[in-house]
Amino acid sequence: MQPIEMPDRRDVQPNQRHHRFLGDGGIKVSFEFPAPGTARSEKRIWQSLKRLEPLKPTSVGITYGAESFEREQTHAIIARILNETELDVAAHLTCVAATRAEVDTIARKYWQLGVRRIVALRGNPRQGESYQAHPAGYANSVALVGGLRALAPFEIAVSAYPEKHPESPTIDHDLDLLKAKIDVGATTAITQYFFDNDVFFRFRDRASAKGIKIPIIPGILPIYNFRQIARFAFYAHVSIPRWLIPQVEGLNNDSETRGIVAAATAAQQILDLMEHGVQHVHFYTFNHADLVYAICHMLGLRGIDSSR
Ligand code: FAD
Repeated sequence: MQPIEMPDRRDVQPNQRHHRFLGDGGIKVSFEFPAPGTARSEKRIWQSLKRLEPLKPTSVGITYGAESFEREQTHAIIARILNETELDVAAHLTCVAATRAEVDTIARKYWQLGVRRIVALRGNPRQGESYQAHPAGYANSVALVGGLRALAPFEIAVSAYPEKHPESPTIDHDLDLLKAKIDVGATTAITQYFFDNDVFFRFRDRASAKGIKIPIIPGILPIYNFRQIARFAFYAHVSIPRWLIPQVEGLNNDSETRGIVAAATAAQQILDLMEHGVQHVHFYTFNHADLVYAICHMLGLRGIDSSR
């Protein structure tokens, strides 16, 4: 059989967009998985972690629930990741519904286990409740970041909301809050997901105008199920651009095509971000490991076993 002739990379025309990123390991990725809740979902997280581990993410994180049984499961998974994998953990930690002493005890335990990165958040209250600081707890995310920094030299990531947090009066208010978190020790921000890159670019410009210099890592939520994601987006006050809707809707009963479309759409979004200087993206995986793997493959990332 004739060998297939491959073009020399130098022959690739400059108008073939994105080629310079691919195959060079040009993007860093981190992965987030939902807090388990049940034994079945814990198994699913574990399968997803193993599937994505070969892509060598900078870190993996498990969301941190408001209920104590969810918290216990999150702690157990983090310990297991550290024991059984080569993965670096960015442990999510919130201050909602906990005393300061409880949060500090968990943070100390994490440090002893070898956790060096924390994603520090105020946290969502229990369903149907609005946020109230625990009388003996950290008042908010700024106080939490300061408290964690005082405990140990963690690398601390915090949230950022390109379309503003639903409770926030303005984007400016959110940016001031982000700046306050940086002033007490946050070194990275990870954004809420968004579907319109212009929203992110505008936010990044406004952050820069405020003197915010830390990396702002875009959060990516692949649209694996338009109906469900549209509902999430509605509650999170995240806009879905009109031009995107015809691309992703109308596949309710066709999960296979949905997966292909979700991969193509997310890869397109990330390639555009990369063209605008983004070097790291954070995936809200929701355990759709095959989908995230496919997207990463399209970005040029290769697992150890890329022959599958
Ligand atoms: P905050 O920084 O607390 O800001 C939220 C709003 O609170 C602000 O807009 C402002 O209106 C108000 N506020 C806070 N502090 C002050 C202050 N000092 N002065 C005035 N106003 C203030 N939730 C979980 O429960 N578990 C998780 O694991 C989790 N992981 C997440 C990961 C990422 C990357 C992101 C982006 C979000 C995550 N969330 C998680 C969601 C987050 O907890 C919620 O959005 C929560 O409602 C806000 O917490 P925060 O730390 O993101 O925002």
